[in-house]
Amino acid sequence: MTFRRILRAALAVALVSPCVTQSQDVAATTPVRAALDRIRADNAWTIEQQVSICEIPAPPFKEERRAAEMKRRFEALGLRNVRIDSIGNVIAERPGTSNGPVVILAAHLDTVFPEETDVRVQRQGTLLKGPGIGDDCRGLAVLLAVAKAMGAENVTTAGAIYFVANVGEEGPGDLRGVKHLFAKPPAKIDYFISVDGTGLGLTSRAVGSNRYKVSFKGPGGHSYGAFGMPSPIHALGRAIAKISAIQVPRTPKTTFNVGIVEGGTSVNTISPLGAMDVDLRSESPDALATLDAAFRKAVDEALADENARWPQSRVKVTVDVQSTGVRPAAAPPDTSRIVRTAQAAARALGFEAPGSASSTDANWPMSLGVEAITLDGGGEGRGAHSVTESYDDGDRGWLGPQWALMVVTMLASSRQAPGGA
Ligand SMILES: [Zn+2]
Repeated sequence: MTFRRILRAALAVALVSPCVTQSQDVAATTPVRAALDRIRADNAWTIEQQVSICEIPAPPFKEERRAAEMKRRFEALGLRNVRIDSIGNVIAERPGTSNGPVVILAAHLDTVFPEETDVRVQRQGTLLKGPGIGDDCRGLAVLLAVAKAMGAENVTTAGAIYFVANVGEEGPGDLRGVKHLFAKPPAKIDYFISVDGTGLGLTSRAVGSNRYKVSFKGPGGHSYGAFGMPSPIHALGRAIAKISAIQVPRTPKTTFNVGIVEGGTSVNTISPLGAMDVDLRSESPDALATLDAAFRKAVDEALADENARWPQSRVKVTVDVQSTGVRPAAAPPDTSRIVRTAQAAARALGFEAPGSASSTDANWPMSLGVEAITLDGGGEGRGAHSVTESYDDGDRGWLGPQWALMVVTMLASSRQAPGGA
């Protein structure tokens, strides 16, 4: 039986029975259908994975312990050639039967939480509470659930599937895990799917961001004795005033934020440093470039204004603008095969998944022209990036891993568009 027939049968059953529980159809004998059922039957196991992996801390740049555990679990599930690459990504293979499309299914290891954070998970029925439990312990659990179900039910695909638990998705990581993956790919990658966070949403466009650390510097001195000297903090204030007055388009959504300010030693000292962390974002590469230019102009003008304010001073303030993160914006067409496949699979499982824009690991492959999406992992999440983060599996949390399994299987099985979709 060809995969197209299997899939059509699986989709047909799924369409009449969104829960995919009945087994009177020919699809009941097919591996894909069995794997979907297996995911549902193994839901408690998936939740166990999510909780236990989340209780291993994984602060930015300190993902090693969680990575080692994911490697162990991938191996236990029978995935091949499981290794940790030089940047810290865990890569595991499920070989294809012929020369079909190569699909990456990824989730990120890192959290936003510092090392000393209490990462123990509290459980109350289907509700789980703990830092990172949704973002992205849910994604890691989905990878394990998909690998387990495909292995148990012998789902075969023409192309290879690589399961990747990657480092560096969150802010300071600057997508270093996926950037490395695409710089040194395990094979030519046709499709990239990240499973990140909770819900049943589809990210099909990439919100780009440019992040900077801006440091105004000067010699500093006594507030009274050295009065008349330009001040790095005053220059910083001028820059913030100018940035906050930048006009940005509502559509495409374009935003700016000064998130952290630093500097100063005492109330009666002209500070030697005034620094800020700035985040600029847009769905549109052009709008982001325009905003970036306006930001740089604001900083340059603030510096010139502060130095011009004290023309008699022999010392000047200088500025250093350092890039701390670049995520390219990208808006591939919603008619791409990967988006249509994700939407067809969602419909087969009984829900709609219109494409939306977000900032995820998929930004990087999208910007390289590789078909890429991010899928939510199911369930319902609250308070991502806060220590009060929670995840509720509800009564249909398994839809997340079912969706991921269908999408990777459909993509890796043929180079053609999904049957009937
Ligand atoms: Zn995330």
